[in-house]
Amino acid sequence: MKIQSITLADISIPLHKPFITALRRVEAMSSVLVRIETNEGYIGYGEAPPTAAITGETMGSIRAAIEERIGPSIIGLDLDAFDDIMSALRHSIVKNTSAKAAVDMALYDLLAQSCGKPLYKLLGGARGRLETDITISLNDTETMVRDSMSAAREGYNILKVKVGKSGIADTNTIAAIREACPGAVLRVDANQGWDVKQAIRVIRAMEDKNLDIELVEQPVPAYDVDGLRRVTRAVSTPILADEAVFSTRDAIHIITTGSADYINIKLMKTGGIYEALKICAVAEEYGIQCMMGCMLESKVAVSAAAHMACGKGIITRADLDGPSLCINDPCTGGPIFSGPHIQMPDEPGIGITQVPAFG
Ligand code: MG
Repeated sequence: MKIQSITLADISIPLHKPFITALRRVEAMSSVLVRIETNEGYIGYGEAPPTAAITGETMGSIRAAIEERIGPSIIGLDLDAFDDIMSALRHSIVKNTSAKAAVDMALYDLLAQSCGKPLYKLLGGARGRLETDITISLNDTETMVRDSMSAAREGYNILKVKVGKSGIADTNTIAAIREACPGAVLRVDANQGWDVKQAIRVIRAMEDKNLDIELVEQPVPAYDVDGLRRVTRAVSTPILADEAVFSTRDAIHIITTGSADYINIKLMKTGGIYEALKICAVAEEYGIQCMMGCMLESKVAVSAAAHMACGKGIITRADLDGPSLCINDPCTGGPIFSGPHIQMPDEPGIGITQVPAFG
């Protein structure tokens, strides 16, 4: 079965409320959808959102990378020689990890369909369902407390709280959320917003106040791995590396230098499932738990991430709230997203049946 064509479509879906982190503010989810068709009529879907602040990609760069480089390098290749396709994809262009991820996930969708299995079973089948956290955007404390309480009322037990703008004042925000939601699991994501000393001061203050924080994500800038290690050593709260880990090489470096306790895997950083599996293998070898995360992605890409998260036992946490932030989905079929619960489908592949954007 050969790769016959790749078609792209742009989508934009309004969010229930603005998504705000230390790095950016977004009102709508935009992305490039990918549809790959084989000569036997099988269709695989993928998606890449333009997260310029993190991956350096835009809608235009994602389109150009796929149309000018990735597409020509894989069209005509045989799905049965999957390793050759993955090699061609990897070597078609450097970086451009989201563009690669969109194509990679559509190819895995096709591979699993051709095997007649749901993708997560092909990837290992560690579990069939997930519980995701939900993001609490960075706002004034009052708004963040209100958003946290309404998320808890909607059934979310795990809140991922965005901080990193105000240093030690972030501690007061987290304390207020802890008081309002005593039973919630709290994850704190600084999105590179602190420097090393600030991070140590804020995290120790949260520890002194017994705020019971599950983990702190990417406290310092992505490039400062040495700083990340200093923070990890100075506090007892587990530290999770996000923006600091794109590739397997990054993961090896972070793990072998003891620079973080956990790793956040996102398909848009790794360039897709193929590389994410390698990171899982390394993490498993060293006993480092992983989180499966997403950018601001719609159900198409998050479905692929959910399959990945269900495939591997070393992925013990899910931050896959993209679809619940969007006012609607651009597709039908696939995993069922219902509040914090994600249930995997029985259909072969990723399970997505229709994407109206392609007409
Ligand atoms: Mg993060």
